[in-house]
Parts: sequence; C-alpha cells; structure tokens
Amino acid sequence: ATVPPRKTVRDYIRTIPDFPKPGIMFRDVTSLFADPRGFRICVDQLLDPFAGQRFDKVVALEARGFILGGAIAHQLNVGFVPVRKAGKLPGATLSEEYQLEYGEATVEIHDDALAEGEKVLVVDDLLATGGTAEAGVRLCERLGAEVIGCSFVIDLPALGGRARLERMGLRVETLCA
Ligand code: AMP
Repeated sequence: ATVPPRKTVRDYIRTIPDFPKPGIMFRDVTSLFADPRGFRICVDQLLDPFAGQRFDKVVALEARGFILGGAIAHQLNVGFVPVRKAGKLPGATLSEEYQLEYGEATVEIHDDALAEGEKVLVVDDLLATGGTAEAGVRLCERLGAEVIGCSFVIDLPALGGRARLERMGLRVETLCA
C-alpha cells in the first residue's frame, strides 16, 4: 500500500471567498493554528531559514501575527514585542501611517520596546501589499533595532509585498503562496 503524503502547511489553510468583502480571497489560518501538527510544523518551518542566527526580539503584527510571534519568541527564548493598531498600546508610542487600498491605517510600538542594535525578526501571517510589514519594520528601525528578517506563512506575490520589502534591503521568508 502507498503511504499518503503528509500534509504541508499550505494544506491546513482554508481560503474563504468574498471575506471581508466581495472579491477578497481570505486566507484563513485559524484552521492551521487549530491543528497541533499544523501549528508546530508552521512555527518550525518559519524558524528553519534562521537556524544559527541570534535574535534579541520577535516583533509581530496585530492580530494573527501575535499567535505566531508568541510561539516563535518562546521557541527562540527571546522577548515578544507587539506592533498594534493605533490607540491600543498604553505607554508612550511611535506611530507609522501607511496607505490601504481605500484610506490609511496607523500602527504603533512602545517607544521603549526595542533597544539600539537589537536583532529583530518581524512576523505576520500573510504578506499582501507589504504596507503593514513595511510600517512595522520602520517602527523597529526608528528605535535603532536591526531587522534581520521578515517571516510570513503566506505570500501573495501578485500584490508585490515581497518585492517592496526586498527593495528596502530586507530578507523575506515565506512558507507558501
Ligand atoms: P498588506 O499590508 O497589504 O501586506 O496586508 C497584510 C495584512 O493584511 C496582514 O496582517 C494580513 O493578515 C492581512 N491580509 C491581507 N490580505 C489578506 C488575505 N487575502 N487573507 C487574509 N489576510 C489578509
């Protein structure tokens, strides 16, 4: 008998059409995170390309990035820093505004969350236009941190996020498209 091939990270992700609005193919990672093997291989594979690299902090983007970022920070034995939507962080913050398809968004980081020279991994579930990640990276850089890489589970290459981050000189790692 042939052994069925093991599921890959991609196989655990559901695509839900027309959410949150018509025309959007929403990549739902709750089905990946809900599966014990799926979640584990996802976190392991996000870390694989950085084997041997020293990090000081994991910086994750609200909200699904937090789920990955917490697990990755634990695995790396480093601290976790959230980049949140405007108005959510209680302390003094730095903010970055960026363009959305319609309108704009603002993300924030605590102004004491990273120290000069700290080596950072930036994490989110999905890379689309790269606007969110770019804003997160800028916040890290404004605090003097060094962004070693940006990791995402899903890349939507047609939306140009990878190219945008690579133009900034960043290392981009993704698990599937
Ligand atoms: P962007 O700033 O355009 O790269 O968008 C990335 C952010 O929006 C990430 O935090 C994603 O979680 C979310 N996002 C954008 N497009 C999708 C999609 N098709 N499915 C799920 N999440 C998405």
